[in-house]
Amino acid sequence: MKTDVAVIGGGAIGAAIGYFLRAHPRASEVAVIERDPAFRLASTPRASGGVRQLFSLPENIELSKFGLEFFSRFERDMAVDGAPAPIGFTRGGYLFIVPPAAIPVLEANFAIQQRHGVDVRWLDPAGLKTQFPSMRVDDLGAGVHSPTDGWLDPSSVLQGLRRKARALGAILVTGEVVGIEHDGRRARNLRLKSGETVEAELFINAAGAWASEITAMIGLAVPIEPMRRYEHYFEPGTPIEKLPYVKDVNRLAFRPEGKGYTGGVPDLAEPRGFNFEVDHDYFERVVWPAVAHRFPPLETLKLKNTMPGLYDQNELDGNPILGPCGLENFHLAAGFSGHGLMHAPGIGRAFAELILDGGYQTIDLTRFGWQRVVENKPYRERGIL
Ligand SMILES: Cc1cc2nc3c(=O)[nH]c(=O)nc-3n(C[C@H](O)[C@H](O)[C@H](O)COP(=O)(O)OP(=O)(O)OC[C@H]3O[C@@H](n4cnc5c(N)ncnc54)[C@H](O)[C@@H]3O)c2cc1C
Repeated sequence: MKTDVAVIGGGAIGAAIGYFLRAHPRASEVAVIERDPAFRLASTPRASGGVRQLFSLPENIELSKFGLEFFSRFERDMAVDGAPAPIGFTRGGYLFIVPPAAIPVLEANFAIQQRHGVDVRWLDPAGLKTQFPSMRVDDLGAGVHSPTDGWLDPSSVLQGLRRKARALGAILVTGEVVGIEHDGRRARNLRLKSGETVEAELFINAAGAWASEITAMIGLAVPIEPMRRYEHYFEPGTPIEKLPYVKDVNRLAFRPEGKGYTGGVPDLAEPRGFNFEVDHDYFERVVWPAVAHRFPPLETLKLKNTMPGLYDQNELDGNPILGPCGLENFHLAAGFSGHGLMHAPGIGRAFAELILDGGYQTIDLTRFGWQRVVENKPYRERGIL
């Protein structure tokens, strides 16, 4: 087949790019190529679903602001033939909590967030205790609460984006990319396992944790590695007050879900690789003590489910690599390192701007480009990741 833009990978990122390329006033033809339309191992359906503006880099804050705006209208805007696209979007808020030593970083980030118009509230330990009576606060220095942040159902977002992209004319191709033909300057076509080829003017690698396998097809090494992370679902023995999405400096991160909570403690020391095994001790050893320490009434919680998933971890700086890379017409949209779902709408819009308007129009994401990798200049978040 032949198209203008071929997107490799049909998860949240690929689907959002497909949608925004079709929704643009000068829409291009686009084919989104996905090897497994059931998304059995993809990261998107395994995500926790959190959307937060609590970042330090302006790009990440702005991407989240747009994400929240987009998700708040999603059900209506992604409707197809009058059928709405509910995603369970809940503005339950986020809460970052830090020990006294980390107050200066939290303060600096708080100031940046305020400058970007984020609704953020500073809470000292007494304020935390008043708002969240079950929380242990004697070892905390402060917290920042962002009541307009929240969460959603990742699979519904993925299905909604795909359905709408298709309704607008995106071609959703089922196939596995196994090779890329190029002349060292430009890519010409993709080879699929079926033997078919996809010819295009421009190619976007949105293969998430598999992005390095795709760039290897053009002889390019990128610092993106699969990193296993568990999402646990657990229920309290005794119910406590309503919590926001809570995160701390030791990477404990969890939020309300149904009768209980979903979340975990990502381990950055986790060996890299496509590992979907479950270490059944991890929750007991790492997550449960962290939850019980912070919320003593949750000591009697019951673990109900553990799901492994992969981060597309950018080893350089934990932020995505976006735009042209390796060949003139070969773009990368990967390395999201745990933030890809919340940023998918902003990334989709950014690629539509880059391709159809000739450059970023709304959020300037130049600093997330490949150049920083070439120059080995990390562009990192400060504080809680
Ligand atoms: C446990 C966990 C919790 C998370 N929590 C959050 C959160 O709260 N908020 C948030 O924003 N993010 C979160 N994330 C991160 C988020 O899930 C990812 O950043 C995001 O889903 C990335 O989307 P993607 O489309 O790039 O990748 P994916 O969803 O993995 O999609 C990539 C697709 O590429 C396909 N593919 C790969 N190779 C090929 C090939 N050769 N040919 C064709 N297709 C191919 C794969 O089949 C896959 O479907 C979490 C991740 C995990 C694992």
